[in-house]
Amino acid sequence: MVAPASHGDIDELAAGVRDGDRAAIGRAITLVESRRSGDAEPTQELLRALLPHSAGAHRVGITGVPGVGKSTLIEQLGTTLTRAGHRVAVLAVDPTSARWGGSILGDKTRMTSLANDPAAFVRPSPAAGELGGVTRVTRESILVLEAAGFDVVLVETVGVGQSETAVADMVDFFVVLMLAGAGDDLQGIKKGILEIADLIAVNKADGDNKERADAAANNYRLALAMTQPVSPTWTPPVIVCSGVTGDGLDTLWGHVSAHRRVMSDSGEFDLRRADQRVRWMHAMLDERMRARLTAGTAGLLADLEADVRADRQTPTAAADHLMAAFERTAQNSSSKATSPSMPIW
Ligand code: GDP
Repeated sequence: MVAPASHGDIDELAAGVRDGDRAAIGRAITLVESRRSGDAEPTQELLRALLPHSAGAHRVGITGVPGVGKSTLIEQLGTTLTRAGHRVAVLAVDPTSARWGGSILGDKTRMTSLANDPAAFVRPSPAAGELGGVTRVTRESILVLEAAGFDVVLVETVGVGQSETAVADMVDFFVVLMLAGAGDDLQGIKKGILEIADLIAVNKADGDNKERADAAANNYRLALAMTQPVSPTWTPPVIVCSGVTGDGLDTLWGHVSAHRRVMSDSGEFDLRRADQRVRWMHAMLDERMRARLTAGTAGLLADLEADVRADRQTPTAAADHLMAAFERTAQNSSSKATSPSMPIW
């Protein structure tokens, strides 16, 4: 993206987004996705303009291993929701692309009918990026889509690395899709996933697979009964469904809506969002602090790592050493500062 050059351009872009103009929404998300340092300030300016119009959507995360049926289910669910009068946006968090040079979610042609639905907006995952960068893009894209009037935002992710936790921390409701396995279903379950699920859906419960799906659902119910629920007012239900036949999707959405009612009544809905915003601020702060710290101490960090590796210094002493060097650099640059716009660190 070539950054919009002036405040006027950003105002115009923000107005286009608020009008629901698809080209403007696309441009705004491209700006949010941009990694050019010159685009960072225009992006924040755009988000400041959009923020008063955001926060209106119901944010729902959906995860599951590749092949579990995420895109098929989202296509069905999304189409059902747009038919019922909702405006649905779909985003993807896919931290795999950076590491392996190929994206699990982005490469196939997916959700074609939803992508062509005028009441829906499907954004392929950003081309590449580490989890931190991808989650920032997704969170900020959610704000753009909400300002554009989408009232349901579905955020999809593959269960790779920490991406599930990252997505669970940016949505109001987190759906974990499972498959009925051949043996003990619980063996394949990723550690920690039950703790962050608001609902477990055993998918592909159709044809010959229906019975095995029901049995798997019972196993998950037992496992959940032994897990501490995230919320005192919500016990995550376990359902069976099929993205192909659409069976169970009404039940799924019924739970999403019930959860919203229950959580809004108890005050937990707003609390969860507030906590998420604060954790997000801390994550951004950590990222920025670390970036400045490493930039400001150049080769010293590598030397200290070598010392710690060889057991010549304790990790604590090395960290203190680095901080002391960093603080000296920061003081020097602030006393030498000739213009107020110079970075203090
Ligand atoms: P994703 O990788 O999780 O997005 O999974 P896809 O939606 O691409 O589905 C993977 C494969 O499973 C495809 O061949 C689908 O046709 C099939 N599939 C998806 N959902 C269902 C379902 O509910 N029932 C059955 N029987 N097959 C399904």
